[in-house]
Amino acid sequence: MDFATTPDSEPIIDLHSDAYFMGEALRMAQRAYAADEVPIGAVVTHKGRVIARAFNQVETLQDATAHAEMLAITQAESVLGNWRLNECELYVTKEPCPMCAGAIVHVRFSRIIFGCPDPKGGGAGGHFNIVQSPNLNHQCEITHSVRLEECRGLLRSFFAEKRRALVQDGDAK
Ligand SMILES: [Zn+2]
Repeated sequence: MDFATTPDSEPIIDLHSDAYFMGEALRMAQRAYAADEVPIGAVVTHKGRVIARAFNQVETLQDATAHAEMLAITQAESVLGNWRLNECELYVTKEPCPMCAGAIVHVRFSRIIFGCPDPKGGGAGGHFNIVQSPNLNHQCEITHSVRLEECRGLLRSFFAEKRRALVQDGDAK
């Protein structure tokens, strides 16, 4: 998918509420940052209301599957008492990876909204388009680049800090 262009056929969406809910996901990403986790946050909305919020906890839980999206999905399923999230939307600060994109298809989100695209490894059109694969039994709408600069800025400053720390460690030896 070419993220630079928006096809004319793309449905009109409420940009204000997308920006608002992405703000909630950004708050989660900041909590990940504070916990020294790669700063990615996610929220799930159901009929315009947030029902789940989570941030990346791979290091804290020592669980490679503890991505923000996966944790938010599990919460949302338990809130609704239903694994089918077809009336829900997922907001996440970075494009979902292939694992999360697979989970997104399984729970049948109607739409996913993300901030920062991931052309190297993204599973929602950046590299693979798993969430819209005609071979799978569900496809969901994608809205991308919502509050892009803020979502990307958090990731960039996190990794810049990590690199600086590595250099300083090297100098100390
Ligand atoms: Zn993921």
